[in-house]
Amino acid sequence: TQFQNYKLSEDILEALRLLGYDRPTRIQQDVIPAMLAGKNIVAKAPTGSGKTAAFAIPICENIVWEENAPQALVLEPTRELAEQVKDEMFRIGRKKRLKVPALFGGFPIDKQIQTLRQKSHIVVGTPGRVADHLRRESLRLDKVVYAVIDEADLMLDMGFADEVNEILALLGEGCKISLFSATLKPEIQELADTYIRDAALIMQ
Ligand code: AMP
Repeated sequence: TQFQNYKLSEDILEALRLLGYDRPTRIQQDVIPAMLAGKNIVAKAPTGSGKTAAFAIPICENIVWEENAPQALVLEPTRELAEQVKDEMFRIGRKKRLKVPALFGGFPIDKQIQTLRQKSHIVVGTPGRVADHLRRESLRLDKVVYAVIDEADLMLDMGFADEVNEILALLGEGCKISLFSATLKPEIQELADTYIRDAALIMQ
């Protein structure tokens, strides 16, 4: 399988060539076509499998540059992961000039508020800080059409269940949700069952 087999724009294919991504990994072969077809995803996938690009590619493909509010929200359990995923999103969306701010705690919130006043296409953040911005109304989710819960098991292990629930409850009806987790233990399954309808189940 080649990336050219998917319905991706030249901007995204060019970015993948520059990254040296010659062909999709297994998880990407499962996730990319499913997300491009508009499916919700529940995926058991370890780090190192290429799962970041698996959701980043279809999301970057479908972002409309002109829209002035965030169209995608990616939740990560830690600042380090949020920064890594932001970087990967930026690299894949580079040719589309996508703006991808990262929001995490331990960093001045005023600076993040300033950033959010400018155009942002994809917001990557930790649940605590994202929930904080939502309460302050410096972040709005009404144009978000893709939400990703990445490293879901780690997110719950770190005690973010309340914030994750608070955030997911604010998503609009038509928002596509994807969940990625190293394990699909009962708490994760319950989270998925509560918020994710008719998910494509992908096991690696
Ligand atoms: P991840 O599992 O998302 O942390 O990705 C693991 C590593 O694989 C990262 O360094 C990516 O840059 C790299 N990667 C992702 N997709 C591909 C691909 N299709 N071909 C080659 N490397 C990739």
